[in-house]
Amino acid sequence: MPRPLDGELAVVTGAGKGIGEAIAVALADAGARVAVTSRRAEDAERVASALGAGHAGVGMDVSSSTAVAAAVGVIVDALGEPTVLVNNAGVNRIGPAETYADDDWELVVNTNLTGVFRACRAFGSRMLVAGRGTIVNVASIIGPVVGMPGRAAYAASKGGVVGLTRTLGVEWAGRGVRVNAVLPGPVLTPMVHDAIGRGIVDQADVVGRTPAGRFALPEDVARAVVLLCSADAGFVTGQTLVVDGGYTAYGAAHPGATITKAAE
Ligand code: NAP
Repeated sequence: MPRPLDGELAVVTGAGKGIGEAIAVALADAGARVAVTSRRAEDAERVASALGAGHAGVGMDVSSSTAVAAAVGVIVDALGEPTVLVNNAGVNRIGPAETYADDDWELVVNTNLTGVFRACRAFGSRMLVAGRGTIVNVASIIGPVVGMPGRAAYAASKGGVVGLTRTLGVEWAGRGVRVNAVLPGPVLTPMVHDAIGRGIVDQADVVGRTPAGRFALPEDVARAVVLLCSADAGFVTGQTLVVDGGYTAYGAAHPGATITKAAE
């Protein structure tokens, strides 16, 4: 039976663990060959080898234009011309804005925003020559949709990713390259799972605030990415898809407050 991404070659950044790993698995399940990339080559190789033959793991640090250019060469030599790019690599440093350090700001913005631009430029330019390709950027609800204390740099970077997505979407729409973004709410990655275990994140708070009644799993984000990459989304570009189980649409005063007195 044909699969939605048969014949595609997908590159995923930051795919050594967490959401990126789930995206690599989902793209492979949908028929794509996958260049699994991450900051550390060994993480990328571990994920790629679990996917099996036809996939490859390549070290790629998105915080360096030189490193991205080198990885493009390795991927093209090993697998061919990429037709799908998923910009997932991201970091966060949490702290009050009034004392936030320059180094933390530089790290977060350079990785989350400039890193996305570097990869879009490096792979997108090749897609434009080929006249076809699709890019999905993993942003966040934090920044484009909601504010969250302590996350000034993260929110600025993710808001920037949405602006970049819309701009590239319209700049490249007539040349066969689509560019969209997914905006996840809180996702139960191994790191968040660990934070719950250590009492840093209150699972009940997040679940209670989410109309769907559970945390998002990495696979929920991965399925949305596959949808945007597929021909079913062939006329969708420059758009954002929130993946949050209703978290940002929820307007009640507190969890469970679904019926107002006025409606009685
Ligand atoms: P994660 O578990 O920390 O994984 C991030 C991955 O990105 C790691 O493999 C990491 O490698 C890699 N990475 C970091 N800096 C990199 C760089 N300079 N170059 C290449 N790779 C780099 O994070 P996650 O929770 O899966 O998040 C993935 C994406 O989803 C991020 O963009 C994040 O902002 C976004 N997101 C996450 C959530 C959530 O609740 N988890 C919600 C909304 C959006 P190392 O291990 O070597 O650092």
